[in-house]
Amino acid sequence: MSFVFDPAPTVAVPVLGGGLFPVHRIYCVGRNYVEHAQEMGFTGREPPFFFLKPADAIVAVPEGRTGQIDYPSLTANLHHEIELVVAIGKGGRNIKAADAAQHIWGYAVGLDMTRRDLQGEMKKAGRPWCIGKAFDQSAPIGPIVPRAKTGELTAGAITLTVNGQPRQSADLGDLIWNVAETIEHLSAAWALQPGDLIYSGTPAGVAAVVRGDVMEGHVDGLPTLRVAVR
Ligand code: MN
Repeated sequence: MSFVFDPAPTVAVPVLGGGLFPVHRIYCVGRNYVEHAQEMGFTGREPPFFFLKPADAIVAVPEGRTGQIDYPSLTANLHHEIELVVAIGKGGRNIKAADAAQHIWGYAVGLDMTRRDLQGEMKKAGRPWCIGKAFDQSAPIGPIVPRAKTGELTAGAITLTVNGQPRQSADLGDLIWNVAETIEHLSAAWALQPGDLIYSGTPAGVAAVVRGDVMEGHVDGLPTLRVAVR
């Protein structure tokens, strides 16, 4: 049997030093830094929660280049969320935090772009966040660096500037649920697969961008991600 039309190409992210990482799913962690949870109106340690973006929301930006995203439809409040992205190389269910590192293929800098006004309306109505989070081009990402080169990333600066002005600044050590714990929780709910990406949550300082803005995201040990809004 043949396909009735050509299937979409596999979404892939360049690996620093060569090769392409094929993307399976994109999982995202909500409210995973204390000060960001507070700015969104929440306090205290709650169990991690997750949402997904479609794999083809990826906008892969090669090292040293400036990626481009189009200002999306239906919103007047497009927010940046700088995040450490974890790339899964070995799948599994019920992975213990102590064993999580061996499932990590590498890391990248990512942006969880958010139509905050639409997300807010959905929250208020008790409806799914999809329209606020899972839209086209909502997941810019820089090159993936193999864990073999970086080691485990558990501390280090995570920052975002917009047009050179600081917007978000924290340390990976400030994560409420660290990467290993996140993998434990996530793999209890879904069978992780090679190619899964985990956007691990954003620090405080989320705010709006407009057409013409240039975002520059950084995580210590990884190449800078630069993305312009057009
Ligand atoms: Mn996020």
